[in-house]
Amino acid sequence: CGIVGYVGPKSTLEVLLGGLRRLEYRGYDSAGVSVISGTGLETRKKAGKLDNLINEITNHPLPDAHIGIGHTRWATHGAPTDGNAHPHIGGSAAKLSLIHNGIIENFYELKAELVAAGTKFASETDSEVAAHLVAAEFEKTGDLPTAFTNVVKRLHGAFTLLAIHEDQPDVVLAARRNSPLVIGLGDGENFLGSDVAAFVEHTKRAISVGQDEIVILRASEIEIRTFDGAPVTPVEFEVSWDA
Ligand code: GLU
Repeated sequence: CGIVGYVGPKSTLEVLLGGLRRLEYRGYDSAGVSVISGTGLETRKKAGKLDNLINEITNHPLPDAHIGIGHTRWATHGAPTDGNAHPHIGGSAAKLSLIHNGIIENFYELKAELVAAGTKFASETDSEVAAHLVAAEFEKTGDLPTAFTNVVKRLHGAFTLLAIHEDQPDVVLAARRNSPLVIGLGDGENFLGSDVAAFVEHTKRAISVGQDEIVILRASEIEIRTFDGAPVTPVEFEVSWDA
């Protein structure tokens, strides 16, 4: 339902939780975050209000990190439980974390394919297939943007997807089809959101991501491509909104 992503020098946890707080108005039933630090990928997620997630993080603190993703879920596939909350972790090495807004309509076929190949699922969501597919494709291709692109092309339905991988701790990948995605431009830091509320307290400079486009986001570099690999020239706009 709500999505935020960050890469930059600030406390990632503060940026993510602040963004999720501002996205609360959309309604949600669960919340979660993943960050990558020197010790690797870590995830905390909880059913219920954001305060449940914050309690969980107080009890199980997260390390300082400069890249991360956050999600508030409005369940469509699978009950609102801790296990079905996003992020979802992909691959047997559990190095990839992914969040999803929307519905992956062909998840059942994709899940059957993965289960037949021996993949173990941790949730009942449609979203988890995307996490396992990207992790597997990255093992095959060794290139995260290529892996991500190959997978999103196979997904039907509506999705805003964000993913991070422990082996590429400087990049957030994002894609959208029939579901919104906005980039927030900072100085040596960049943001992603399902709407500008996710980052408006940090920057008013934004870029709308078009249908069937992929974003490769780093702290001081942004690349946008179509699902077919064609480069997209970003068009910046100013958010006319009081933070
Ligand atoms: N379909 C996904 C789920 O049920 C995502 C729902 C959402 O947009 O929050 O977990």
